[in-house]
Amino acid sequence: MKPDTDQLLAYIERTVERTLTACTGCGKCFDVCPMTRYSDLLPGRPGGEVVAGVLDILRGKAGTPAAVEWTRLCTQSALCIPVCPEKIDPMLMLRLSRITALGSTGAQPLLPNPRRDPEFFRRINAFAKLQLSEAELDEWQR
Ligand code: SF4
Repeated sequence: MKPDTDQLLAYIERTVERTLTACTGCGKCFDVCPMTRYSDLLPGRPGGEVVAGVLDILRGKAGTPAAVEWTRLCTQSALCIPVCPEKIDPMLMLRLSRITALGSTGAQPLLPNPRRDPEFFRRINAFAKLQLSEAELDEWQR
């Protein structure tokens, strides 16, 4: 089935809404992230504070420098997924934060877009970039 851009954007909106509602800001996802040590900005930061900035990015706001940095650094280790007590997929949360920070959902860009194409994620290859799981695909196709 050919992905439909409107359906994909609706899926993104639903997932963002669910994350904003369910996340308690406990910071456990940040605490297990293996990438934070590679930043000058992130080590020692309270996880809840950084996650709060990520949630702000998902709301289309500026977030915080630490939240933008964590968004930028994510390499999708997936170590964050099993530790979330709210059954959120924090890796997906960060992927959506990245999409938003690139300005691809219409928000003010916070990260340089390597393709200099504001429509990049509105194109069909956005589907591949999201790397949806089977469960996510099922939900997206509803
Ligand atoms: S572990 Fe889950 S609930 Fe806790 S801050 Fe991360 S996403 Fe939010």
